[in-house]
Amino acid sequence: MERAFCPLCLRGGKLFTINNEIWNLVKVSRYSDMLQRSDGSRTVGMTDRDTKTIYLADDLRGKFLDRVLCHELCHAFCLSYNVYMDIDTEEIVADFLATYGREVFEIADRLLIELMEVA
Ligand SMILES: [Zn+2]
Repeated sequence: MERAFCPLCLRGGKLFTINNEIWNLVKVSRYSDMLQRSDGSRTVGMTDRDTKTIYLADDLRGKFLDRVLCHELCHAFCLSYNVYMDIDTEEIVADFLATYGREVFEIADRLLIELMEVA
């Protein structure tokens, strides 16, 4: 049976949109060239600005997968919203978001609900 075209499966990944720009999330082997930095060192997540693709090692699981995904999404958001900072600062922001982002928004959501109940 011929498979129907699935826009969510383009290049074997998942498409998503940030600020009207289409991005693709692709899982690759930990040993893929896509997870090699320009200095030769290896990583488990990479955001490619040219192809608008985030590559993640396919063996990531649980909280670490969540952290790597959120970190790479931060880079994609910076690119799609033209938020410029030097790369060292962007790495700090991406790590902060990946580590504390969910907790910040959970507390904000809870406080907003309480504030709305009072109003
Ligand atoms: Zn990074």
